[in-house]
Amino acid sequence: MTDTKNTAGTNWRPATALVHGGTTRSPFGETSEAMFLTQGFVYDSAEAAEARFNGEDPGFVYSRYANPTVAMFEDRIKMLEGAEAARATASGMAAVNLALMASVKAGDHVVAAKALFGSCRYICETLLPRFGVESTLIDGTDIDQWKAAVKPNTKALFLESPTNPTLEVIDIAAVAEIAKSVGARLIVDNVFATPMYQSPLSLGADVVIYSATKHIDGQGRCLGGVVLSDEEWITEKVMPFVKHTGPHMSPFSAWVLLKGLETLPLRVAQQTNSAGQIADFLAGQSKVKRLIYPGRDDHPQAEIAKRQMRGGATMVALEIEGGKEAAFRFVNALDLIRISNNLGDAKSLITHPATTTHQSIGEEARAELGITDGMLRLSVGLEDPQDLLEDVEKALAAI
Ligand SMILES: *Cc1c(COP(=O)(O)O)cnc(C)c1O
Repeated sequence: MTDTKNTAGTNWRPATALVHGGTTRSPFGETSEAMFLTQGFVYDSAEAAEARFNGEDPGFVYSRYANPTVAMFEDRIKMLEGAEAARATASGMAAVNLALMASVKAGDHVVAAKALFGSCRYICETLLPRFGVESTLIDGTDIDQWKAAVKPNTKALFLESPTNPTLEVIDIAAVAEIAKSVGARLIVDNVFATPMYQSPLSLGADVVIYSATKHIDGQGRCLGGVVLSDEEWITEKVMPFVKHTGPHMSPFSAWVLLKGLETLPLRVAQQTNSAGQIADFLAGQSKVKRLIYPGRDDHPQAEIAKRQMRGGATMVALEIEGGKEAAFRFVNALDLIRISNNLGDAKSLITHPATTTHQSIGEEARAELGITDGMLRLSVGLEDPQDLLEDVEKALAAI
């Protein structure tokens, strides 16, 4: 049952859409969104079942195809992103795999920026070639390399900006233009920027994907993902893949993530504010060899960041003077900031990419990506920024 009061809100500003967008209410008229933990749906008659299956009646059929709670999550995030359609998935990786699989077939070619989240790199470098899809990995910050890599059979361009963990910023509008010139789809993994600070579709991208596990949940509870794009592509390419291979989001996760969306703007704004303060503090420290934050003027792609991002977001990268040993001493001396490879959480988390998230890619690939032994990736949480600054200051002194 649709709440007709809430279906007219297409002109809502983001904060409003994130509280009310996509809400449907059961006949009980509940205030908070209901969690529909059901596999299937019953029909009043054989004719009604027939109408559902032939599409005359647009209702629900089976939760692998669609579910009311999952649909609320999809409708809400698509309003925020300004997308025509969205498909929620069980994890961020399911979303990446779905977006790529829906774009290619054997004989096609994919170009991806090589500074990718580890598993995204595995899909492009190892998995796609196994199914006859060739892939080329390039330095995404160099627009000439995108131009040189595309071919007549290139069907998808894939990038992440800012990148993990070095926070490089890639010119999305420039890459979108190259994608259009060869008729390929540009897929942007927008996790690090968050939907609050970067809107890839408005920059010319065709598909946006999220690991909802990160800022959208924002409280470390469940995994989820989402693919957003135009109605036609989602209906014709994405939906059949979801229906027949089952990477859908569970209604429970959808409910958690739906409630996460309500507070997303407040949380991300606070985390970004603290990240900026910590970045500014660290940039002035002699034990910090290099500080990378997309919200600062000394970022290598500051000009592009200013153009395509509305804020520096919640991640800070830093290189400690003295390599792995010094970096470990710093991390081990932190009390409040916890050691974890997750990000976007209410709790501030730090990781040493060379020995954790990027251990398996090997030394050569790490060197190519600028992931040094002294580099750390900090995900800034919701604690009082003063407590975070004191923790960082104390740990620097302990090196
Ligand atoms: C975490 C993450 C993913 C994968 O998401 P999961 O929900 O862990 O499967 C993909 N891309 C980026 C940039 C991420 O940070």
